[in-house]
This record gives sequence, C-alpha cells and structure tokens, in this order.
Amino acid sequence: MQALTPKNLLTWSLSACTRDAEYPPCNCPDCNQKLWSHGFRDRNLENTKIILKRYRCPRCTKVISIKPEGMLDYFQTLLKTMLVTLEHRLTFKSWPHLIPRQRSGHWLRAFYRHHKMHAPDQSPMSYLGHLAKESVNFFDKRSRTKKN
Ligand SMILES: [Zn+2]
Repeated sequence: MQALTPKNLLTWSLSACTRDAEYPPCNCPDCNQKLWSHGFRDRNLENTKIILKRYRCPRCTKVISIKPEGMLDYFQTLLKTMLVTLEHRLTFKSWPHLIPRQRSGHWLRAFYRHHKMHAPDQSPMSYLGHLAKESVNFFDKRSRTKKN
C-alpha cells in the first residue's frame, strides 16, 4: 500500500470511517516519520457517531486522526453543511429549520468576519461561492489574518 502524503493524510471518505477499514500507512506531516497505529476515537458528526482512526508519531509524539473530508476540528458539522446553511440564510433571510439557529448564527458571524477581512469589496453571496469552491475553512485562525 502506498503511504499517504501530508496533504491528503487528514481526509478520508465518511463511509470508510470504520474499525474494519484497511487504513494505509502514513507519514507524519511534520517530520515525515512513519506513523504508528494509535487506535480509534469516537466523534459526533452531523448527529451521528463516527469512528476516527488515529496515528501517533514515534519521533515528535504528535497524534493524528484521519477525518472525513470537510470535517473541521472542534466542529460536529461538515463545512459543506455550514456553507449550504449560510447560502440559505443569505438568499431567503431566514434559517433552515434543521439547524439550531444559535449555532448557525455563530457560523454567520465567523463568515462575515472572514468576508470583511479578505474580500470586503465582493458581495457576501459571491464570496460564499468562492469559499465553497475552494473548501475554505473560514473558522481557521490562520485564514483570519490578511494576506499581503
Ligand atoms: Zn512527527
């Protein structure tokens, strides 16, 4: 089996997140050391319990979980769901019924902060389209700082 590169190490298809799946060998994204298997971790995602495979780096002791594509650290909702919710809000000026309003309000404030920082001249709707196309994590602190 081919080792995963640091770029695709953290993503995995959601349906493949099981204990029985064959996980390929991986290298550490920081020091490129071959990672050791480090068990599994339960997480909630989109109101469903999922299992994430974990690896541990024997050199720098970093623990890495393989997450489904679009799953963000510290969030129980996929980025795609957030963007679709925000698109609904911007289009209809109301929230979709399935997502708690308080939670989606948090996403909207983060989106507006990101929009104001990166593309204040662009319309919010077209900037949202850009974020969706590029799969930009608008909660990421690194993307909150303005690029020169
Ligand atoms: Zn390492």
